[in-house]
Amino acid sequence: MDISNLTIKETRRLLDSKELSTKELAKSCLKNIENKNKELNIFLEVYEDVIKQAILAQEIIDKGEAKYLTGIPLAIKDNILIKGKKASAASKILENYRATYTATAAQKLIDQSAIFIGRTNMDEFAMGSSTENSAFGVTKNPYDISRVAGGSSGGSAAAVAANMALGALGSDTGGSIREPASFCGVVGLKPTYGSVSRYGLMAMGSSLDVIGPIAKTVSDTEIIFNAIKGRDKMDSTSREGKKERLKEEKIKIGVPYHILDQEGISKEVRKNFDESIEKIKNLGFEIKDIKLPNMDKSLAVYYIIMPAEVSSNMARYDGIKYGLSVSDRDLLSVYKKTRGEGFGREVRRRIILGTYVLSSGYYDAYYGKAMMARKIISDEFRVAFDAVDAILTPTTPAPAWKIGEKSSPLENYLADIFTVTANIVGAPAISLPSGYAKIEDSLSAGLPLGIQLMASHMSEDILFEIGKKFLNE
Ligand code: GLN
Repeated sequence: MDISNLTIKETRRLLDSKELSTKELAKSCLKNIENKNKELNIFLEVYEDVIKQAILAQEIIDKGEAKYLTGIPLAIKDNILIKGKKASAASKILENYRATYTATAAQKLIDQSAIFIGRTNMDEFAMGSSTENSAFGVTKNPYDISRVAGGSSGGSAAAVAANMALGALGSDTGGSIREPASFCGVVGLKPTYGSVSRYGLMAMGSSLDVIGPIAKTVSDTEIIFNAIKGRDKMDSTSREGKKERLKEEKIKIGVPYHILDQEGISKEVRKNFDESIEKIKNLGFEIKDIKLPNMDKSLAVYYIIMPAEVSSNMARYDGIKYGLSVSDRDLLSVYKKTRGEGFGREVRRRIILGTYVLSSGYYDAYYGKAMMARKIISDEFRVAFDAVDAILTPTTPAPAWKIGEKSSPLENYLADIFTVTANIVGAPAISLPSGYAKIEDSLSAGLPLGIQLMASHMSEDILFEIGKKFLNE
């Protein structure tokens, strides 16, 4: 038996009944990393103290003090801080940076004595959807090594899919948890904005960013989410609570069919989506055709608001406070040289775009307008959630693409068409594996596909409820 193939739920039982030790489990993950990481480029670093963490977790289990995640090996995205450990956001500018404090979400897992195996590859500063923007090489899809694993949390999703960890933390600003989860055939949750503290997450777009879990099942995703959520005094946007639903009513799921009739959605995705709807109907849910007239503007809105926030968040990397510093004759030259050498092309592109949309002559035309559209889209969603409990779309318009295949930034941005809306409105959204696409020139018999469910703020529970039924958990 490949023990790293287990779910968190099964593993908990085996650890508690002493049929399995934390050391055996950790070693099995490490073995998979040893065998496959060179080829797949999932972990940027495997921590040297994994076995030590496993021994400490075992002591806690032996004392009968185990919590749900005690001894469970998890992976962490390279933009979430653990004190004393490196965190580079897959950027040259932070290549040897060591965190001086621990992110609240990570701390909550450490408090349960979960085991952090190592930090995973990603698009530089989370800007991308394929990890092709990592300064340390692309992560390959475990299903087909000629294809991307998705991004920006590509390493985290691939680590779970390749049995290198039982779960992982990612971050999601416009789809970075859901899209790689869908490409790698695993579950990914983007929680409600603010339901998980952002303290210790390297900021990309602060009004959009959220940390969330990736795992093999909905139940495992829920377990990690319950461990990391909650109000944190270190993040003033964080919040507590959950929305209850009247249990007796039949769950209604809205489908904005008009969005699906656009160009650019692959026939495999459309076919799988229609089949998924049938499956959902057969499970006893009600499907309703709904209209979200401005959802198709989300992508444009996102690619104005996000770079605006990026341009301001990236200002801290100046070669003085931390990370890379390229010395030169005066302070301004140090800034310029450090940022020029330290940031990759996509990061520089977004800083320039963001600075432009915020500049005095263009602010109203771009940023101001995008903020108005954000409000309109949010209002539309609020109205929609009065009529339905969840909204269903595919997670991505197509399955994982071939490495290097997309030649322009715009082609990459279009992959986010279904995912960005949840970030714009702050709603929770989950990607569920929904089957496989048979693609002729793929090295794999089938490439994973995913469907996305969104719900109203703080309604993660409804996503878990539908998700568990869908995956027959
Ligand atoms: N793919 C999107 C982007 O490139 C989303 C990234 C993210 O969620 N961090 O911005």
